[in-house]
Amino acid sequence: MKCCICTSEIDKQYTPQGECYWDQGHNAMPLANGRCCTKCNDTEVIPMRMAFIASGRPMPTIAIKDILKEQRKARALAKVSLKAITKEVNERKKK
Ligand SMILES: [Zn+2]
Repeated sequence: MKCCICTSEIDKQYTPQGECYWDQGHNAMPLANGRCCTKCNDTEVIPMRMAFIASGRPMPTIAIKDILKEQRKARALAKVSLKAITKEVNERKKK
């Protein structure tokens, strides 16, 4: 299984006897909606959760990554329509 943050293979957890007992990673919320590796969990997910708790804000129920993706999409769309409007205005001016 791949980490939903860094896309590398999720690390397996072993018992002292060397048996794999867990290979499902960690819950990546509120950063991403999926499973992540231990490194991303320790360096990205946990600090983000702590930051939300420390700031007293409610934990997001939608993953930050998804929000950013939506915002990028919305921004791209706005840019396209803005360009189209500008073009139309300029064409009208010519006439
Ligand atoms: Zn990762």
